[in-house]
Amino acid sequence: MSLSYTSFGQIQKDLTASKISCLELVQHYLTNIEKNKNLNAFLAVYEQEALLRAKEIDEKLKVDKAGRLAGMVIGLKDVFCYAEHGLQASSKILNGFESQFTATCVQRLLDEDAIIIGRQNCDEFAMGSSNETSAFGPVKNALGENLVPGGSSGGSAVAVQADMCLVALGSDTGGSVRQPAALCGIMGFKPTYSRISRHGLIAYASSFDTVGAFAKSSEDLALVLEIMAGADEFDSTVSQREVPNYQSFLAKKPEKLRIAYIDNTISHEGVNPEVRKATQDTIAWLKSEGHTLEAVDFSLLEYALPVYYILTTAEASTNLARFDGVRYGYRSPNVTDIESLYKKSRSEGFGREVKRRIMLGTFVLSASYYDAYFTKAQKVRRLIREQTLDFFQKFDFLICPTTPTTAFKIGELSEKTVEMYLSDLFTVQASVAGVPAISVPNGQDSNNLPIGLQIMASAFEEGPLLSFANYLIKRTS
Ligand code: GLN
Repeated sequence: MSLSYTSFGQIQKDLTASKISCLELVQHYLTNIEKNKNLNAFLAVYEQEALLRAKEIDEKLKVDKAGRLAGMVIGLKDVFCYAEHGLQASSKILNGFESQFTATCVQRLLDEDAIIIGRQNCDEFAMGSSNETSAFGPVKNALGENLVPGGSSGGSAVAVQADMCLVALGSDTGGSVRQPAALCGIMGFKPTYSRISRHGLIAYASSFDTVGAFAKSSEDLALVLEIMAGADEFDSTVSQREVPNYQSFLAKKPEKLRIAYIDNTISHEGVNPEVRKATQDTIAWLKSEGHTLEAVDFSLLEYALPVYYILTTAEASTNLARFDGVRYGYRSPNVTDIESLYKKSRSEGFGREVKRRIMLGTFVLSASYYDAYFTKAQKVRRLIREQTLDFFQKFDFLICPTTPTTAFKIGELSEKTVEMYLSDLFTVQASVAGVPAISVPNGQDSNNLPIGLQIMASAFEEGPLLSFANYLIKRTS
C-alpha cells in the first residue's frame, strides 16, 4: 500500500472510513525511515513501541475513546526528554544518558494519543545552521545527498520532508525550525517566547528557546500548538494566557491585511537573486489580492546577529556548565584529579562549535567585558524588541525571506563560521524580540530547491499568523 498524507485531516478521514489503521500508518513511516536511512535523520527509531502503541490506539478508536491526536505520528528532535528513552542533544557528552521524565510538550501530545516514532538528529546542543555539528554525522537534505537540510533541527525537517513522520518537534532559539523548513520546502513554526513550556527541553539559551514544529499543513501546526501551549507548573516562565482554538482561525480567508515587507532584507547584498525575486513575486500577488503592502526598513538589522550571538553564547556557557563529567553521560577515562576530570571530560565530550560558543559566552560574561558586551547587547535587544513591536502597531504582519539562500552544499560553509552565522540573518529578529514567526514554502530556484518566506506577527498573535500562512500556501495563482 502506498500512502502519502500531507495533513492530519486526511488521515483522520481515512481512519474514520476504516481505509487505514494506525498500525498501517506506523508501518508506512517505518518503511520510509528504513528506505531513507542514508539521510541520517534519526538517531533512534522506536519501532516495536510505536507498533504496539498503534495497536492500542486502533482499539481505542474502535470504541470511540481515542484522543485528539489518534493517528498522528510524531518525531522528536534529540533535545526533548521522553522518560526511559535516550537523549543526547546529538552530543558525545551525553553518551548513554536516559531521560527520567517527559517534557511537558511531549506529555501533552502523548495524552492525546500521538505516536512517537523516534529521536531525530540535530546540530550538537542545537548550535548550528546546517546539521553538520552533530556528533552522529550530518543530516542530508532529501532533495540531494550533497545538500544540507539546514539546522539545527535538520533531522526533524528531513523526517517530515521525506514522509518519515507527519509532524516533528524542533526547538527554535534563533531560527532552528524556520531555517531548515525553508531549505527543505516544508512549514516550520516558532510560537511566541513562553507560549509553550520549556520543561524537559534541553536548554541552549533560555531567554530565546522555544518549542517549534514542522508540518506540511497549517492545520496540523495549529492543532499541535493548541495541545502543547499553556500554563505549566514546571516552567515558571511560561505564559498563563488562555490558549485559543487556533484551528478556528484557519477557517476564514483573511480580510484586507496590512503587511510590511522588510526592504533591507530583500535588497540585502547577501540575498540570492532568485530568493529576492520569489519574495517580490509574493508581494506583488498580495497587492493584487487587495492587501496593503508597505516597505519598511528594520534599521537595527545589522545588530540583530551580533546581539543574538553575544546573548545566546552567554546563556549557553552557563547552561552547559552542568555537563561536567560528574553528573551526566560522558566521563573521560584518563583523569588524575577533579580538575582534569572536568577539563578532559568537557574537552573530549563537546564538539568544536559548542566549545567555541562556551568560550565566547564565558568571555562576554567575564568581569572586564561584561558591560561592554553583555549589558550592551541586552540594551540593543530591548531596542530590537521595541522596533519590532512598533511595526505591529501599524501592520498585521512583517514578511521577508526566511534565509538569504537556498540549501547549500555539505562542507561549503563548515569552516566559514561567520558565513554560516549569516544564514540566520533574518530569523534571529523574531527570536531576539520574542515574537511568533513561521516559514512557508515560497516557490523554488532554478535548481528546483525550495525557497522560504518568513512571516512574523505580534506577540501571541499565533492564530492570525497561522491563518495568513494557510492562505499563502493555498494560493493557486
Ligand atoms: N543557527 C542558530 C544557531 O546556531 C540557531 C540555532 C537554534 O535556533 N537552535 O544558534
